[in-house]
Amino acid sequence: MGSLLPLDIESRRTIASASLRPLANALRAELQPLLAGALVIPEGKARLTRLGGRCEFDGTLLEFDPYSPHEHRCRQCQRVFTGPAHHDWWAMGAQLWTAERAVQAAALYWVRDDKAAGALSVRILRELGQRYHSWPNQDNALGPTRPFFSTYLESIWLLNLCHAVSLLESAGIDAETARELSAVRGQLIEPSRDLIASYHEGRSNRQVWNEVAILSASCVLGDHRTIEKRLDSRTGLHNLIATGLLDDGSWYEGENYHLFAHRGLWYGVQLLRALGRPLDASLDARYRAGFVTPFLGLLPDDTLPSRRDSQYAVSIRQWRFAEWCELGIAHATALGGRDASTGMRADRRHDEQTGARALARTDVRLGARPDARLTGTLQRLYEADPNGPLQSHARHPYSTADAERNEPAGLLSRADLSWRSLLMADAELQPSRSWSPGSVCLPSQGLAVIRREHGQMYVALEGGHTGGGHGHPDRLALTLQHGRNRWLEDPGTGSYVERKLHWYRSTLAHAAPVIDGASQDGVAAQLLAFEDRGWAGWIKKRVENIKPGVNVQRTVVVCEAYVIDLLEWDAAGEVQVDLPVARRVDQCSAQHWERANPGGAGGLEDGFDFLVDAEVDRHFKGFAAAGVADSHGEFAQSAQAVRHSPQGAGYSVRLSSGEWGSDTQAHYGSSQRFELWRAMAPASPGRPAERLHWIRTRAQRGSILGMWTWNETLNIRIEQAPLVLTITGGDGTSAVHSATDSGWHIDLKAGHATSSIDLKRLPQGAASVGQLRPAVGTSPGDHDTEAEQPPSDVSAHVPVPVHSHPAWVVPEAPAALSFELGEAHYLRTEQSWADAGKPRATINLRVDDNHLVLEVTARTGAPTIPALDADNALDNERRDVNADGVQLYLGPKSGPPWTRSWLAVPAKECAPRARVTPLLANTPDIVSTWNLTADGWWMSLSVPLASVPVQADGTFALELIVNERPAHRVRRRGQLVLSGGAGFAYLRGDRSDSTQAMTFRMPPR
Ligand SMILES: [Zn+2]
Repeated sequence: MGSLLPLDIESRRTIASASLRPLANALRAELQPLLAGALVIPEGKARLTRLGGRCEFDGTLLEFDPYSPHEHRCRQCQRVFTGPAHHDWWAMGAQLWTAERAVQAAALYWVRDDKAAGALSVRILRELGQRYHSWPNQDNALGPTRPFFSTYLESIWLLNLCHAVSLLESAGIDAETARELSAVRGQLIEPSRDLIASYHEGRSNRQVWNEVAILSASCVLGDHRTIEKRLDSRTGLHNLIATGLLDDGSWYEGENYHLFAHRGLWYGVQLLRALGRPLDASLDARYRAGFVTPFLGLLPDDTLPSRRDSQYAVSIRQWRFAEWCELGIAHATALGGRDASTGMRADRRHDEQTGARALARTDVRLGARPDARLTGTLQRLYEADPNGPLQSHARHPYSTADAERNEPAGLLSRADLSWRSLLMADAELQPSRSWSPGSVCLPSQGLAVIRREHGQMYVALEGGHTGGGHGHPDRLALTLQHGRNRWLEDPGTGSYVERKLHWYRSTLAHAAPVIDGASQDGVAAQLLAFEDRGWAGWIKKRVENIKPGVNVQRTVVVCEAYVIDLLEWDAAGEVQVDLPVARRVDQCSAQHWERANPGGAGGLEDGFDFLVDAEVDRHFKGFAAAGVADSHGEFAQSAQAVRHSPQGAGYSVRLSSGEWGSDTQAHYGSSQRFELWRAMAPASPGRPAERLHWIRTRAQRGSILGMWTWNETLNIRIEQAPLVLTITGGDGTSAVHSATDSGWHIDLKAGHATSSIDLKRLPQGAASVGQLRPAVGTSPGDHDTEAEQPPSDVSAHVPVPVHSHPAWVVPEAPAALSFELGEAHYLRTEQSWADAGKPRATINLRVDDNHLVLEVTARTGAPTIPALDADNALDNERRDVNADGVQLYLGPKSGPPWTRSWLAVPAKECAPRARVTPLLANTPDIVSTWNLTADGWWMSLSVPLASVPVQADGTFALELIVNERPAHRVRRRGQLVLSGGAGFAYLRGDRSDSTQAMTFRMPPR
């Protein structure tokens, strides 16, 4: 069997007994309770629920302690929680923790010949192997798995166990142990690999883990045919790296998923090296760049920006970031020893002296030396934190492998690292200067940051591509942070299965423009300008069709003591623009607050439903009104204007907060009349609600102008058309800002000295949209390591309309159009159509008495329906999604969003009527009846013809889905889909993609 890591046992033994001895000792001490006692292996399968693992009071993730399966503490409020939901969540951590201990023990056996540790590793593998099939592969949240609820978790777990087996065997084992490990292969490694391979997650970060686990398991199984087949596949590891990593080295789904995907890639890249098939130079360069990118956007308090689905305020002063740097440095060091002409590794570094020579030699040739930014960041992590007192340090012993849990910032040393560093980190760290990031622009990732005051002042404008399934509609969001004071920020994202997820994924939760009360469409932002000239810098981004026909751009100019924030839009007609401008305000110049309903477009994902106690002040004139008077509007002084005017009309509003710092103020106004709104809104997950202020205005074309000032009192005057801003400091110096065709012009005056700065736009054509690389093999579909067809055939499994037909004419009663739904229409979860008992349904359509009538005969067994008062404890989907029933969708044609949809279940409490839930706003109630049949149930749904969105040519689009849930399951098992199935039904909830929908035509009347 080949090794999974490119390791040299002699040199590693030396290092583990010398410079990394404290780490080896710490890893050994952590195993002591297991060496002396019972293993930690859950009886049941891990389960994801809304409650499980979170504090019931503040939503904080509960602490994980492998030795406390029934009591779980909240770090925030110190309460202890018990109960099955929390225990089932704990089971996930316990499985991963135990798997990681298996490889940790094997690593100590390998590097120290620690026989007790080796025996522990074998014991864990044996027990997990014997129990693998006791965990059922059902009721999963995302993909097939036995011990977990999502496939990628089983991938992480299997990968750890494979490393354990590989290390044990390469260190040498006796015949009895060899027999035991052979049993583990048959009981666990092969079936788990095949289960993971039965599911493919396209270009998701999770697929990295699935792919690496399958390859590693195949390696342990000696299945070289599968390895070759998968490596050569267009959906294989090389292509995941080539298409998933942007030019700057970052994973396309954003920072949070970059960290996760890149850690998975680390295993993959080391495996490729061990297999003698390393990445080519350009891919490897991109992979190496990926070690540095997370630190480029770092906030002044050493936390990561909470962009997209990231958790809030994650500190890099955790051991896993130190290990991240160590592994990046070690990879570059190893690559430095590679011979440029052959791509093969030259002599490995056996001791420091020869290693340094090899490094010096190859540096010149390849330029592949550890990145100074990485060594400088690591240096900083191992130093004390200059920004504040860190908690005294203690090694955190409860790592759950690569399913990370964030810990508070702490003091770190090399003894805090994991088995990976014990086996792979450089013997000694080269002396390095500590490094902090400066201004930076990553157009593809959409990150643009200008820093001031030695990195203490941070200004970022959100943009770039949409970020896939984990992207948020927050194009043009502004982030402002001074030291630890967060003025405007992304609130991060909490639990994926809570209702509040919709808030965190709304535009309104971000300091980004909201058009007509609805979250933005998922479109990319163009970078029009990024330049930092030291005294002055600017960022300009533009989004076309942020909503259909609406184009918005935002310009942020950063000077020494202030930021200018200009939002401009043009639209086909008048639009309402809401711009959140501040949080946690405690002083505001508005004085005419009245209770009001802020409205919103009506969707949960638009965010307005989460606001409470909303108030508005409608007395703001806008600068254009000022222009009528004297062509000058007093901007900063408008608070005074409010006070002195009996009407209370001002041109702008002034906001400040004790939490921003005492000298910090924000001023906002608009070119036209505007309103200032405020309401209590959810704060970052786990924190109490806080007050949000936003500007609302209406215009076909218009602008909102803001100024943030700190450290200094400034006077600001504004002229409209063209826009000229004059900013005067207390010392008499002034800066006159104006927009020009080529960029932004600033005239500076200090006494008699004058100078000017021109900030330039990027050349036309250079504007970056942040496109993703062309997708190769993007379609999720079945993968089967044992199947005859190569994995490149996944497209054959992609759902296709089974009934390709121009338009089906719906006849008048008593005739009917009839469809038989079976295997070709089935969307599965874990079981195939055959294993699910071959569920079938017949659909009849006809027009009868001014109604479109649909009859469903489901041959799926007796229906399982949750009680009327039951709550879906699993996730934030509707209760009746996990029931036998029908989802019906109508739209004008396939492609655009549906305009009518219903969820109907054959519930006993209202028989013979069905329990019908309209799923979209403006969907009328319909009549639906049902009855039991010998092998299932029958249901009829009648939609008034007036409610069918029939086009002028008589056509409309329709989708009908039959949900199937046997009584012994807690979730829906599968769906029969009229337009065609094949594939998986995970995460679809009550939604249906209209692009596959069939077209129907009304009968001539
Ligand atoms: Zn709590």
